[in-house]
Amino acid sequence: MPAHSLRGGCHCGAIRVELELTRAPADYTPRACDCSFCRKHGAAYLSDPAGRLHIAVRDQAALGRYRQGNALAEFLFCKTCGVLVGVAYAEGGCLYATVNSRVIEGDPGFPNATAVSPQTLGADEKVARWKAVWFADVTLAGNGSPG
Ligand SMILES: [Zn+2]
Repeated sequence: MPAHSLRGGCHCGAIRVELELTRAPADYTPRACDCSFCRKHGAAYLSDPAGRLHIAVRDQAALGRYRQGNALAEFLFCKTCGVLVGVAYAEGGCLYATVNSRVIEGDPGFPNATAVSPQTLGADEKVARWKAVWFADVTLAGNGSPG
């Protein structure tokens, strides 16, 4: 499957992301979550359930995890530079995640973000949606790993 590889990360470089998308970037519309936390970060999320995501943590001490709302998912941010990198949800040994498209480097050509309101969903609906639209092939690795 042809992959479109993108890279990004937080501002200081402690947390890096590598994405493989199955379609051209122009085919993805980042989702601007309207919850109070995401609005404060200006986050707009991008994911591909058939793609792949690697989160490389170069400085383990800098990886911050924050739960809010109904606390099912973890927001991943850099404690050093303050950038919100993405959101992850773990269940049954599987890790699902979505990336804040604002941390992707270069100009991949994403369309403008569209507003979404997952806070209106119940907990079960949220989890079902994450499993349907987030990356399902996710690795999160610490110091010394490739990438
Ligand atoms: Zn940083």
